[in-house]
Amino acid sequence: MSYADKTLTCRDCGQSFTFTVGEQEFHASKGFHNDPSRCQDCRAARKAARGDASGSYTSGSYSSGGYGSGGYGRRDREMFSATCAECGNEARVPFQPRGDKPVYCSDCFSKQRSYSGSYR
Ligand SMILES: [Zn+2]
Ligand SMILES: [Zn+2]
Repeated sequence: MSYADKTLTCRDCGQSFTFTVGEQEFHASKGFHNDPSRCQDCRAARKAARGDASGSYTSGSYSSGGYGSGGYGRRDREMFSATCAECGNEARVPFQPRGDKPVYCSDCFSKQRSYSGSYR
């Protein structure tokens, strides 16, 4: 397939322009079969107007923040450590142990509960 320079008339500006062999080959490689209807200048102008000139994609400033930290949610319940009156292991209780009551770890506490009420 042999190419020859073609002289075409631009649809937009009416100027005649040369559709060179190189351009025709490039055109063909892109799968285009119709002659370009616009000159290079007008094609570039249209492309720019459409804004699809590659490289002009500016990823905007992603402003994070605004997600105010602090004040969100309740604090974890304060736990006090004490010694289990039953097994002697560390017991963590949500209240300040005062010594006038035995403190049980969660294991023993649940045992106590299951015992109470079922007095044989
Ligand atoms: Zn033109
Ligand atoms: Zn215990």
